[in-house]
Amino acid sequence: MDKATVLLIYTGGTIGMEHNPATGTLEAVNFDALLDYLPELKHFDINIDTCAFNPPIDSSNMTPRLWARIASIIEERYENYDGFVILHGTDTMSYTASALSFMLENLSKPVILTGSQLPIGQLRTDGKENLITAIEIAAERQADGSATVPEVCVYFNNRLFRGNRTTKRSADQFTAFESFNYPPLAEAGVDIHYYPEHILRPKPGRRLKVHYRFDSNVIVMSLFPGYSETIARQLFAIPGLKAIVMRTFGSGNAPQEDWLLRELRQASERGTVIVNISQCVNGSVEMKRYDPGLSLLEAGVLSGRDSTVESAVTKLMLLLGECDNPGEVREIMNKSLCGEVSF
Ligand code: ASP
Repeated sequence: MDKATVLLIYTGGTIGMEHNPATGTLEAVNFDALLDYLPELKHFDINIDTCAFNPPIDSSNMTPRLWARIASIIEERYENYDGFVILHGTDTMSYTASALSFMLENLSKPVILTGSQLPIGQLRTDGKENLITAIEIAAERQADGSATVPEVCVYFNNRLFRGNRTTKRSADQFTAFESFNYPPLAEAGVDIHYYPEHILRPKPGRRLKVHYRFDSNVIVMSLFPGYSETIARQLFAIPGLKAIVMRTFGSGNAPQEDWLLRELRQASERGTVIVNISQCVNGSVEMKRYDPGLSLLEAGVLSGRDSTVESAVTKLMLLLGECDNPGEVREIMNKSLCGEVSF
């Protein structure tokens, strides 16, 4: 086989930051400065090209427009590379990974997001191992030349996850990410051990199709005992609101208040898509298990099953941008597009 080729896309994040002595905060440095800390890249038996956001961003500033920029970089150079690595801040990495998984339909090459909790210039940085292994995974091919992991993934602290299953779980531990409802796709120790039974295979003969349209008229509503009727009414009546990710209790339960069920039913009838996601990070919504869940189902609320909030929000944003009517959005929300929910 030829030498593998990987495109490294630098968007920003802690991995490429340094302390600003004047303010004491971490600030992004340019890509050349970051590459100076990585002489290891020259020792790879892989051709690595690079491309960078200018200026790099803290991922709190990520937007659908920037997701589109990343996707278009991948689309334009798709044929030239075996895989792609995206250096990204950890704060919104799971949102970007989820969004890209829905944008890149028929993906047959690895797109691996990684970053770090400590800047690459610090002695104890986790950035080097994360980046070096992410590049190896992006370049990894099977005997027939096809990609070993043809998915959008997050690689962090020795584990490779399906991107749209991840959540940032820690602000300070190296184990920054977790996939609470789906097992890792690979684990890195002395060797990188892949779990092919968990990895999606692309449908043969389909070309990459990139979806760019997002509609941000979505809110996340997190329930708690004592949720105010006045506030809920105002929320449901927001002009232009098209979808609500409702974070419920346990297996998808909400207070059986008449006003709440009435508001939900009326919003559904107006075409607002309401998706039920549990506040528990592990497990699935099962609206038929208890009465409070069943009432939601009867009010027109959809089950988000075991989806993460990040995945439900970005999937809704993309479907609202791409579909012609709420019925179509509801229908596709009930399917798994790229392994984001379990059936
Ligand atoms: N604020 C940073 C970012 O998300 C945090 C990080 O990269 O870990 O860009």
